[in-house]
Amino acid sequence: MLKNNGKKTAVCLLSTAALSLLLLLLVAVHQRVHRVDEGTRGEGPESGDAAAKTEELDAAAKKGFSAYFSKLSRGRREAEKPAGSPLSSAEPPRVEDISANDIFIAVKTTKKFHQSRLNLLLDTWISRNMQQTYIFTDGEDEELKKKIGSHAINTNCSAAHSRQALSCKMAVEYDKFIESGKKWFCHVDDDNYVNVRTLVKLLSQYQHTQDMYIGKPSLDRPIEATERLGDNKMKSVNFWFATGGAGFCVSRGLALKMSPWASGGHFMNTAEKIRLPDDCTIGYIIESVLGVPLTRSNLFHSHLENLQQVSRTEIHKQVTLSYGMFENKSNIINLKGAFSVEEDTSRFKSVHCLLYPDTPWCPPQVAF
Ligand code: UDP
Ligand code: MN
Repeated sequence: MLKNNGKKTAVCLLSTAALSLLLLLLVAVHQRVHRVDEGTRGEGPESGDAAAKTEELDAAAKKGFSAYFSKLSRGRREAEKPAGSPLSSAEPPRVEDISANDIFIAVKTTKKFHQSRLNLLLDTWISRNMQQTYIFTDGEDEELKKKIGSHAINTNCSAAHSRQALSCKMAVEYDKFIESGKKWFCHVDDDNYVNVRTLVKLLSQYQHTQDMYIGKPSLDRPIEATERLGDNKMKSVNFWFATGGAGFCVSRGLALKMSPWASGGHFMNTAEKIRLPDDCTIGYIIESVLGVPLTRSNLFHSHLENLQQVSRTEIHKQVTLSYGMFENKSNIINLKGAFSVEEDTSRFKSVHCLLYPDTPWCPPQVAF
């Protein structure tokens, strides 16, 4: 009985050993096939990866699987990090590599503001960005031409502050942008300071071929307008628009789609249809007609908001700034800068020295 049992155990042990051997052999053959397979498949970097992986597997067998798995998950974490981490972790992802030259910046002005407003811009931010800035005005000015040449554009629009006159200028801005072939259209008023470096950073977060309309609304609700349909018929429409006085940008992809309502004389006709100013007409075409929503950015600032609220430590991060009067008091950013408020009422000279301290007329760098 015992003898019989012993025989059975021996047979059992022998067959288990044989089975294990067979399994080991199979694994070895499989690994060989796997290596050959990887080796012949890859001409590119994959083959190297495969070899590295098999080496890792060998190492894993030696060190134990727990170490191997922890290494794998560490590797996955590294791969999941965005490029340039950890430094870029605080910055939004860059989707398209653009430079200032890909942006068309249109400055709307009028002859009576060439001295009082435009010269300040020419001395500050425009001086560093002549290549991408175009001035849209309503009169000839030899001095201006000397400074910026063909980038001074006489729209021949009326010099009045009427809805029609302002839409006439916007229509020319749009046509010149399309003609320029640049990737982004940005509009600002002549009381805006543009930080082009931050503007480039902001627009790099999007594709210029995408439908993008970026700016800041000045109302806390959509504007209500009445669209004239012809035959004395009316339709009420609600849409958001970015305030022209804070500046806004439109991608080329979207600008091209706007063409039937914005190019040539169409912009004036569209503006007449809703009887609203130029910036509202842009919002109407984009949101109401094309159904593309406004992307809000808090980096644009008009003098319709309280500019004192722009954080002093964040001034260099803003895209546009402005200045103006509100209830007989000046509405300006709070910046202790290179110049006193008396010397620099808009604060633009001080902002400029903060951003470009190497400007010859900026006082030597001191800690403000
Ligand atoms: N503007 C113009 N024609 C005029 C008056 C103003 O083209 O007759 C321009 C001005 O140069 C500025 C924009 O319209 O770029 C807004 O003007 P302003 O800042 O005087 O008024 P706001 O609408 O900001 O109160
Ligand atoms: Mn203004």
